Formats: sequence, C-alpha cells, structure tokens
Amino acid sequence: MSPKFDYIVVGAGAAGCVVASRLSEDPTLRVLLVEAGGTDRSPIIAMPAALPFAYQSRRIGWGYQSGPEPQLGGRAIDEKAGRVVGGSTSINAMIYNRGNPLDYEGWAADGLTDWDYAHCLPYFRRMETFADGTDQWRGGDGPMRISRCRAEHKLFDVFLRGGQQAGFEVTPDHNGYQQEGLHIAQSFIHGGLRWSAARGYLRPALRRPNLHVMSRTHVTRILINDGAATGIEVRHGGRPRRIDCDREVIVCAGALNTPKLLMLSGVGDPDELRRHGIDVVAEAREVGRNLQNHPGVDLQYAAAHGDSLTSQLGPIGRVTLTADWVLRRKGLGTSNFFEAGAFLRTRDDVAFPNMQYEFLPLTRQMKNGRLVPIPGFQLWMDLSRPESRGTVRLRSSDPADHPSIVFNHLKQPQDLRDLIDGVRLARTLIHQPAWDRYRGLELSPGPDVLSDRDIELFIRQRASTSYHASGSCRMGIDGHAVVDGDGRVNAVRRMRIVDASIMPRVITGNLNAPVLIMAEKISDRILRRPALPTSNAPFYRTTPA
Ligand SMILES: Cc1cc2nc3c(=O)[nH]c(=O)nc-3n(C[C@H](O)[C@H](O)[C@H](O)COP(=O)(O)OP(=O)(O)OC[C@H]3O[C@@H](n4cnc5c(N)ncnc54)[C@H](O)[C@@H]3O)c2cc1C
Repeated sequence: MSPKFDYIVVGAGAAGCVVASRLSEDPTLRVLLVEAGGTDRSPIIAMPAALPFAYQSRRIGWGYQSGPEPQLGGRAIDEKAGRVVGGSTSINAMIYNRGNPLDYEGWAADGLTDWDYAHCLPYFRRMETFADGTDQWRGGDGPMRISRCRAEHKLFDVFLRGGQQAGFEVTPDHNGYQQEGLHIAQSFIHGGLRWSAARGYLRPALRRPNLHVMSRTHVTRILINDGAATGIEVRHGGRPRRIDCDREVIVCAGALNTPKLLMLSGVGDPDELRRHGIDVVAEAREVGRNLQNHPGVDLQYAAAHGDSLTSQLGPIGRVTLTADWVLRRKGLGTSNFFEAGAFLRTRDDVAFPNMQYEFLPLTRQMKNGRLVPIPGFQLWMDLSRPESRGTVRLRSSDPADHPSIVFNHLKQPQDLRDLIDGVRLARTLIHQPAWDRYRGLELSPGPDVLSDRDIELFIRQRASTSYHASGSCRMGIDGHAVVDGDGRVNAVRRMRIVDASIMPRVITGNLNAPVLIMAEKISDRILRRPALPTSNAPFYRTTPA
C-alpha cells in the first residue's frame, strides 16, 4: 500500500519548490514532491562561476533540442532545462529580472484582472530578500536572496558610460520603478552561492514531516478518473508505481515537459493524441501551443588580453578562483559574470523595451565541444516580446522519448526586423567614445556584415535562445485557455498547472523570478489564503509614438 497524499506536486523546479514549500506550511496537509532528477548538492551547481559546467552537464539536464526550425535553415537548437532538484534554477545563469510592469498589465488587459502589476508586485516583495534593502518595490524577508552584482571589472563601467553617450539612461534599480535603460545586474546569488529555488524554498521545508520528496522518479502519466485527477504513475528504480492523492495533482514540470505529460495522460488535442494511440481523456486543444521563448544572438568583439576578464581566467587565475571560493566563498567564483545589462527599445511604437542585452567582459567560443573564454567582450541580445509562436508535441506515446519542440523563431516578420535593429543598436552602444580604448575587431557578426540582408543571414545562421520556454499551457479566461487564472486545468478537475507554461505571454526579461511569484500567488489560492493586499507603487511608462 503506498501512502496517500493530499497534494502531489510534479517537478521540483522553480514553481514546484515554491508550491511544495508553501503547501507544507500547513501541518495538516500531506504533500508529495516528485522530481525526475537527482540531488542538487554539487559544487558545479553551488558555485556561480561554474555556470557553464552546470548548463552543459548532461547528467543534470533533459538534453532537449528544438527543431527543425523552419526560419533558421532547419537547424536544431539546444534547449536546456534542468533535470535535477531545483530544476532549471539549479543550472540557470542566476540573472534576476522581474520583467516589465507592463507585462502583467497586459495579462490583466486580456481578462486576468488579478494578474496586473498591483497584484503581482506584493508577491515579488514576499519572494525576495534584496541585499540593498527594502522599499515599496523591494522585499526584505523572502526566501530568495538577491544581490546587486559588484561589477568590478572596468568594462562594466565602460558599458554603462557608452550607453549614456548613446543617449540612454542608467536606471538605479531595473527591478524597481524603472526597468528601461542600462543597469548593473542583480542576481540569485548570496554568500557566494547560487540561490536556487531548492536552496531558498525547498531545503528549509525538508525538515517538515508532512513533506515527502521523491527524487529520481519520472512521472509518466497523471491518473484521471471521471474527469478528475486522482494520482500519478511513476517510474522509480526502473519499476512502475501508482501514487494516489486526495485533493489535487499540481503539475510544475516546466514549459516543455508539462504539455508532454498532459498529452501522455490523454489531455490535449484529440487528433494529436489519436495519432500516437493515446486514449483521449479530456479535450484541450491548446496544450502544447502558444510556445514562446526569447530568441537572440551574440555580438562579439576582440579586446586586448589585459582589458578582458580572460586575463584573470588563465590557469593560475582559475586555481585562485576555485581556492577563493572553496575556502572563503569569495572572489570571482562568486560571480555569474553577467554583471551589467540593458532593456532598450529599437522603435518608438512599443510601450516596453523590446530588446534585452546582457554584457560579458569576455567572449566565449566553442572549442572541442566546450565553451572557452577568449580575450574580448560580448553582448547577448534577445527579443523581449516576440510575436512568433511554436508548439510542443509528442513524438510517440513513450514517456522516455523527447518531445518535438518547434519555436518557429522569426516566423513573424516583425521579430526579424527587431533583431536586425537590435544588432544595429548594439553596435551603436559599442561605437561610443567610451569604448575607443578597448574596442578591437568585431568578431561576430563581423565588420563586413552591414546590410539588412547580411545581418538577417547572420541571425538565421546563429540565432539561439535564452532558454525561456513558456506559454505552452496558456492561462486565460477564454474557453480555449488550458488553465484559468488560478492555474486550474479547465478540462480536468483536481488538477493544476503552475510553471512557465501557463504564462499567457512571455515577459520582458528572464523567467525565474516571474515563475516564482506565479507559484507564490497560486499557492495562496490553493490554500484559500487571502491574496496579499495590492500595491499602489508607481512604475515607469512612456506613451508609444
Ligand atoms: C540554461 C538556462 C539558463 C537560464 N538563465 C536564467 C537566468 O539567468 N535568470 C532567470 O530568471 N531565468 C533563467 N532561466 C529560466 C528559468 O530558470 C526557468 O524559466 C524557470 O526555472 C522555469 O521554472 P519552471 O518551474 O517552469 O520549470 P523548471 O525550473 O525547469 O522545473 C521543472 C522541473 O520538473 C521536473 N520534471 C519535468 N518533467 C518531469 C516528470 N515527468 N517527472 C518528474 N519531474 C519532472 C524537471 O526535472 C524540473 O526539475 C534559464 C533557464 C535555463 C535552462
């Protein structure tokens, strides 16, 4: 006889850690958290500078690819996602961005009225402890520890000055009143450690007797009887097993695996399910549709070795970095290196920054299958609010098969236009006087790539993503939406989805923080706790031309 639980949470990633932690605060509830991956107790996860090892590790990732991408010459693109306790928060780049207030205003304008900024901001405050202190935007006693990057390398300052010379503002807190402009970055790093959702939410909850965690356990199906979820089917130690629950199954498997799991459970587009011989349990045609991401490219410049961070990352530098981190949790090992960035607009007819830039004072290129730093600097730039939409579909009814993922990046002409203009804007930033002493040859796309046509070719050949899969089980108030505003699956009772898949529209920025607050907010709904009082903090907005 397997023990019975009130709630089963599938996936110990950003959302799953929050939901399991918040639900188990009520000692009368028995909560099971099930995770396909194993432990997150590893130095490549804990040490921020080990980030490239974390996200290139096959052991702790799903190893998915999207493609063939029709607009990108049929290329396949690595689409990383964490398969480990902490999920993608254990392998991500730790950049802390909340998105633009207008993202949430947009969700509300589409009918999700209690997802506007006034309702979301209190949850951002509840989720974080910001090292620089509290104000009406920032929180002081939440589980996630957020710090402002030290940005000590001289090129960070050059990046900000160059931006000002190009006519842009430096915003003092891009997660406060004003997102738009250039900024010193903030990160999910505290005490020299990656602050994953597992560290912030799950570990403190593990001592509770009413929370049970099963890792290395792959959920292969959600059991649905008479239109209601009653439990899950898992594979653990190579053997199948069923686990029942009394209240709800809460799916937090991420934007690629959640639609896959729903379809394997017979919830989806009937034609698609029948094609794979899966019995249709509930019709939900939008499962796996509306898939979004942030497509982008790197711009790379050479710089003198002494001017690039590579001068500190030679053999001796790496030994020092590791020793400093191991012995004192200090030094370069405590940095994710993404210590400055920008949210800018390439056109005046949008109300929000349509381009995000992340600046690195080194460049990285693939050598023998590994990303290695080379002297220079680079800007990663991506589209904040792409118009193109893709799909997650099944390849077969075998849960072990990877899903078929196609983002259709650049399908909408506006997306291509914006990326071309984004490349031009990046060059404008780097060609300001502040850069004159430091700017070497443009390595990528290269000085000869000047016309729209050539930039377009470069983008089609090189575009990749920020690993921000989202939207594949859309939340909405219309009949086609997969879930309602509380994450309840419309087609199946006693089942919710809480993760990046329910974002109706991808937000302007990185997704970790928004997913955490979505999980915080829906946890309150599950527990029938009153929502936090709304905020009246103002936010920056401009009127589009
Ligand atoms: C390489 C990378 C870099 C990123 N960088 C940043 C960044 O710097 N800043 C930022 O804000 N965001 C970043 N992100 C995005 C952010 O981490 C994710 O958007 C966020 O973690 C999504 O949360 P989630 O709960 O939807 O899914 P996840 O955090 O991915 O969690 C899903 C969990 O479900 C588990 N799971 C899936 N299927 C099953 C199953 N069938 N059975 C059992 N368990 C299952 C997975 O193993 C995983 O643990 C990055 C993502 C990646 C991959």
